[in-house]
Amino acid sequence: MEKIKRVDEPTTKITDDVPRVPQRANFFMRARFGDLGSKPQREYPRFVAKYPLSKAHGKVMATQLPIHDGEVAPDKAPMPDSLQERAEHIKALCHFLDADIVGICEVPEYAWYSHDLDGEPIEPRHKYAIVMLLDQGYETSRASSGDDWISGAQSYRAYLKGSTISTTVAGYIRELGYEARAHSNADSQVLQLPLTLLAGLGELSRIGEVVLNPYLGPRFKTAVVTTSLPMATDKPIDFGLQDFCSKCKKCARECPPGAISFGDKVMFNGYEMWKPDVESCTRYRVTNPAGSGCGRCMKVCPFNKRGLFQHRIPLWFAINVPAVRKALIWLDDRLGFGNRTTSWKWWLDHEIQDGKVVEPKRTNQRDIRPNRPPSRDRQIPVHPAENNPPPSAKEPVPVNRRAARTRTSEGSPGDD
Ligand code: SF4
Ligand code: SF4
Repeated sequence: MEKIKRVDEPTTKITDDVPRVPQRANFFMRARFGDLGSKPQREYPRFVAKYPLSKAHGKVMATQLPIHDGEVAPDKAPMPDSLQERAEHIKALCHFLDADIVGICEVPEYAWYSHDLDGEPIEPRHKYAIVMLLDQGYETSRASSGDDWISGAQSYRAYLKGSTISTTVAGYIRELGYEARAHSNADSQVLQLPLTLLAGLGELSRIGEVVLNPYLGPRFKTAVVTTSLPMATDKPIDFGLQDFCSKCKKCARECPPGAISFGDKVMFNGYEMWKPDVESCTRYRVTNPAGSGCGRCMKVCPFNKRGLFQHRIPLWFAINVPAVRKALIWLDDRLGFGNRTTSWKWWLDHEIQDGKVVEPKRTNQRDIRPNRPPSRDRQIPVHPAENNPPPSAKEPVPVNRRAARTRTSEGSPGDD
């Protein structure tokens, strides 16, 4: 990562007036409260727990909820005066605990959720964020279709590691006499996407609300520790992804419900981005009848590689020689990357139905479709911040898909 070009601002334009949003606006929460209809609401409680391994992951994570925050030691420990030394110490600690890549940034106010699920305001508390990336596992990703029965457990492997490491790091910093709070998948008061950009860990990709790292691709989850401990911060990176994604549409071609844009970037809630159809994506992940969750976009992305020598050479060209990007994208398909390596499959296809582990009726068995037309005319529905449900709404606030579609046909969603 030290060799990747650093820039003053993220390669995604972010305006000064990004609105803060409540936790209730997250589309998984909207599914839980019935905003997407009765089926996603019915499936929400089991969409992770219907696969035995993900259920086990979730139970361990739940035990860590009470230690995300806690008492701060009354006296400050002796610390190096150099902010750089402190940052290097904290990053080394995260690596010691098994985080894959770590960055540090200041937390802009908009990165804090505005309200929790009870409608209580969330006050921005800490100046700094330690952001860590946790690999979801290359070999398993190679063997999987991305939306079969192991898919959710790949996410949860990374979420659990992130929860364990972030709660440990936050606890350690509190022992040193500084405030610190862990933010995991199970309980986060911050939006982790902008922090991942600002901490220099990746660029925003065509997948939409997904950051892509040059060495892990999109095959990671994040965990964050916010803290009052002053440290040196990192700068955002630029490895040419905006140009690469403008030429490559493989994730859009392969997304099962067609939730990824083939088109151009738009302004949305203060970000210039390829806007995904978050509602369709969430609906598919929650109700997937032949698997658990979905990460097929992650699976098929040409950056989803292991970092071996034979992968490093094309990666160097992808980063440094824009003229060859189209050829590399073509080659990725020709070499069959994105197909399943079925000899590497190690897991059992299982589903928990009515409390019993059974063989599932169906399993998604997909390989790539290079001959699928590369672009189709598609309107991506857009739900601007002012249409978010009230922060404390416990009743369904139905998503108005027709109005959201009209917004895209009327022009840039940022004009709303
Ligand atoms: S997670 Fe699945 S449904 Fe969502 S954008 Fe990726 S491929 Fe599409
Ligand atoms: S599959 Fe291609 S377009 Fe999609 S995120 Fe990866 S590089 Fe970008």
